[in-house]
Amino acid sequence: MTATVPPSTGTPDHDHTDTRHRKVVIIGSGPAGLTAAIYAARANLEPLVIAGNTPMGQLMITSDVENYPGFPHGVQGPELMQHFREQAERFGTTIIEKDATRVDFGERPFRIWVGDDEYRADAVIVATGASALWLGLPSEEEFRGRGVSACATCDGFFFRDRDIAVVGGGDTALEEATFLTRFASKVTMLVRRDEFRGSKIMQERALRDPKIDVLWNREVLEVKGDMTVNALTVRDTKTGETSELPAQGLFIAIGYKPNTDLFEGQLTVGKGGYLELVGETGSGIEGVFIAGDVHDAHYRQAVTAAGDGCKAAIDAERWLASVGEIEASTATNW
Ligand SMILES: Cc1cc2nc3c(=O)[nH]c(=O)nc-3n(C[C@H](O)[C@H](O)[C@H](O)COP(=O)(O)OP(=O)(O)OC[C@H]3O[C@@H](n4cnc5c(N)ncnc54)[C@H](O)[C@@H]3O)c2cc1C
Repeated sequence: MTATVPPSTGTPDHDHTDTRHRKVVIIGSGPAGLTAAIYAARANLEPLVIAGNTPMGQLMITSDVENYPGFPHGVQGPELMQHFREQAERFGTTIIEKDATRVDFGERPFRIWVGDDEYRADAVIVATGASALWLGLPSEEEFRGRGVSACATCDGFFFRDRDIAVVGGGDTALEEATFLTRFASKVTMLVRRDEFRGSKIMQERALRDPKIDVLWNREVLEVKGDMTVNALTVRDTKTGETSELPAQGLFIAIGYKPNTDLFEGQLTVGKGGYLELVGETGSGIEGVFIAGDVHDAHYRQAVTAAGDGCKAAIDAERWLASVGEIEASTATNW
């Protein structure tokens, strides 16, 4: 659903009857952004969520989520996100299903553009998340959620006593392969080159593990299966020879791309392209807060992103009160 927000009327920046000017604008609509919206809306901050062209985040492309608290029998990713959304809307959040295309955090009110439409905000919460990198094969897409995954912590449990392949040669791949040995009968690492890129310690741990096999110079050409994955066609990148590898699961661990292009020149982008945090939720610019996977290379979980969103909204409200944008006396007693 795209909410209708009237075109800019040219009203002064601090006129809060102007719906283009919000106390809080949240960019991104995964667990972090929508949790921030729930908290901000319940604090009467009437947040605007610029949700993105593919709204509601990474969980929209997964099926079973079994580790989100409150769902003892698990929940489908899209269903969980629909709950987040309804809860945010119930308290008065406006949602626009478009990408923010430009921001200017140089002075307050902050400015955010969606195409030609300009919005202004006293406080901004950045929650644009990250995108898992995929191989780009049509068959990989076809079996996503049916044997193909990009998150071992999330989906490893579903592969008890199965043969699993992990693609990648960096720290993430080594970590995921080692983690998956808790469930799998065998883990085969498919590494494009003839060496790992990951840290020595992680390499040694993986190479020592009797459940992990490494196939060097291999790339996946096709994922095969029926209802779920049962084999992979792999190619030897040196000889060009192709072969079939039986596997019931394929984990792609070639990295993540935090969605930070929008903030280039505005916020500090650190190692791996993740936004750098100042304190718990700060960005280094007063009034601009950060939440979720866009800063978090370490946990990358829905529950940690949601926790971040909560913290960012509370910090935003307290900050707005501290600079007199909202009455301190009306600030929520959390
Ligand atoms: C296949 C898969 C399965 C997973 N399974 C689980 C699981 O079982 N349990 C678990 O806890 N975690 C799981 N995760 C991880 C979890 O999905 C993430 O940790 C979580 O979604 C991060 O939330 P977020 O709000 O920070 O960002 P995201 O979920 O990435 O959401 C960010 C949103 O911001 C939007 N956005 C980006 N750029 C812009 C822009 N310019 N303007 C506006 N919006 C923008 C994006 O389109 C997206 O909708 C899984 C991840 C994947 C990929």
